[in-house]
Amino acid sequence: MNKHLLGLAVAGALSAYAMPSAQAQQGELVVYCTVQEEWCRPMVQAFEAKTGIKVSMTRKSSGETYAQIKAEAANPRGDVWWGGTGDPHLQAAEENLTEEYRSPMLARLQPWAIKQAEQSKFRTVGIYAGALGYGFNTKMLADKKIAEPKCWADLIKAEFKDEIQVADPNSSGTSYTMLATLVQLMGEDKAFAYLKALHKNINQYTKSGAAPARAAATGESMIGIVFQHDAVTQVASGAPLKVVSPCEGTGYEIGSMSLIKGAKNLDNAKKWYDWALTPEAQEIGEKAKAFQVPSNLSAKAPPGAPNLAETKLIDYDFAKYGSSAERSRLLKKWDAEVKTAPKN
Ligand code: PLP
Repeated sequence: MNKHLLGLAVAGALSAYAMPSAQAQQGELVVYCTVQEEWCRPMVQAFEAKTGIKVSMTRKSSGETYAQIKAEAANPRGDVWWGGTGDPHLQAAEENLTEEYRSPMLARLQPWAIKQAEQSKFRTVGIYAGALGYGFNTKMLADKKIAEPKCWADLIKAEFKDEIQVADPNSSGTSYTMLATLVQLMGEDKAFAYLKALHKNINQYTKSGAAPARAAATGESMIGIVFQHDAVTQVASGAPLKVVSPCEGTGYEIGSMSLIKGAKNLDNAKKWYDWALTPEAQEIGEKAKAFQVPSNLSAKAPPGAPNLAETKLIDYDFAKYGSSAERSRLLKKWDAEVKTAPKN
């Protein structure tokens, strides 16, 4: 090593010894974030500011994050999985990919959030809830003089050929929620017949569940099948979008959070977990234009959040549709029968 480099190395070693950084003192945390990037970022910033813990965050969709955690099980890289639909969190719990934890915050949560924890033997917990639906671009509909769709049944009409976008249920929790909802609403045979008919009207299966709401907002697609709160986000940004809660009834998600088994920063992950269940953390959603219903009883739902009590909801069977066998079976069947079905 030349003298100059040696000097720098010695100075660096001395300064690291004399002045440990906040990062070295407080440690690190790897967060797998499964909501929209716009919400992940302010969550990370607020947690770092509060704790001095340095967060490294990756954003992916629910099914993708589940697959990543499974692929990394022998050498886990993530510590906490925050957000995304509950079904893949329940599947991860059943497959022993996540850690049991009873947060002291549990008693302050909505009954549906606690039920999610109990159902998983305390390997996941509810952090928000939201109902499935769709949004349509009012200008495009008026231009084409098409009557407003109100039901699931409307979406398979010929006038919507290539006008609808939805995510791929393998990557997206939103789209898996649709698949499981239709099976529960119609029975499996009718649901798959419906999905094959819908396939003719789909212009693109996106990776991310909320992307079709953005496509409908910008006019790239007339209709986006998404969680209603994701359509409300676009309305709040001034998009000409109308939110529909389908007339036959609809399913819903319990957005969830889990600690990853073998987490290298488990203590910090628990700090995130407890904090993410506080009203302070949950109310960050509103600032990020996220309109889910928060799980802490004292956290205020953002004005404009779809009212679940007024929504015609099915009695979604989370235990069944979040089970490893059922989720894997339905996805395989969707790949074999729907994705590859003829478009004409
Ligand atoms: N972003 C928001 C705002 C959500 O409500 C959800 C659902 O949990 C997701 C993302 C999950 O998205 P994906 O369907 O891509 O898994």
